[in-house]
Amino acid sequence: MPISSSRLRGHKIEIHGHRGARGLFPENTLPGYAYALSTGIRTLELDVQLTADNILVATHDFTLSTAQTRDSNGHWLTGTGPETIGLTVEQLKCYDIGGLKPASDYGAKFPDQAFLDGVRIPTLEEVMQFCRHHERQSGAPGVILNIEIKSDPTRPSHPERAEATVDALLSLISKHDYGNQSIIQSFDWAILDLVLDKAPHLKRSYLTMAAQNGEHATIYKGSPWLGKTACLSQDESIPSLIRKAGGDNWSSFFKDLDEKTVAEARALGVGIYVWTVNERQDIDRMIELGVDAIISDYPARVHRRLLEHQENLSTL
Ligand code: MG
Repeated sequence: MPISSSRLRGHKIEIHGHRGARGLFPENTLPGYAYALSTGIRTLELDVQLTADNILVATHDFTLSTAQTRDSNGHWLTGTGPETIGLTVEQLKCYDIGGLKPASDYGAKFPDQAFLDGVRIPTLEEVMQFCRHHERQSGAPGVILNIEIKSDPTRPSHPERAEATVDALLSLISKHDYGNQSIIQSFDWAILDLVLDKAPHLKRSYLTMAAQNGEHATIYKGSPWLGKTACLSQDESIPSLIRKAGGDNWSSFFKDLDEKTVAEARALGVGIYVWTVNERQDIDRMIELGVDAIISDYPARVHRRLLEHQENLSTL
């Protein structure tokens, strides 16, 4: 599909490496982040949760995934894995998350992902230190961390953990001077309300999945995911809700976007990130819509696609 020249010319689209580069390296790991940065991108998307001893670690699932986790004897976890919030960092570090279980459904989604041994769940502080090291070694501009706080308002123990999670995050951002290199995103807008209250200078992005996309939707009347904007009128647009919440950036499921919603966001001055965009035709559509950032498991693929479009433009 050709991209109209007026759309791409002069409009820079960022690339965010989803969980590092999940398509090719184990997700939310230092080897994955290293690979993603080696492709020349500047922004890493990662997920964080608080451990039992109040340390933020980079991990996505609320329970350790049986498709990604081997115990200290090299055995795959079975049944339901332990909850992240129930383990200390020391306990979490005993697990190896360097490979996907053969023949698992999750493993089948990422057939090109490297299988590594001896890879541990990193703390967020280790990620920040790793990025600082990368900046010094490469001379590249500062790494941007798009930090997704994993929080589910429907899960037990949520209220007690939310504030502790935000406090731990703000403390680390301050300690490592990441205020200008962080984006905080979450599906749980109450968490973003807390970030806004405590650190209004930090950039926030409001994650959504619209109702038409099924069982994991977060935007619907009476949704517990909307924080202080919980009063959703029948025809209110998501960009308008984000504005009401005090935000100016939207992390949308890519299938939820169309010309109309993009125009609404633009009219309200709301920036647009999209997740998780992996296939060429979807990448093209997001470029055509003129989003601000594409979050992908294959950041190098998005980079190549953008270069190809720019090359096409130069010949027009
Ligand atoms: Mg995420």
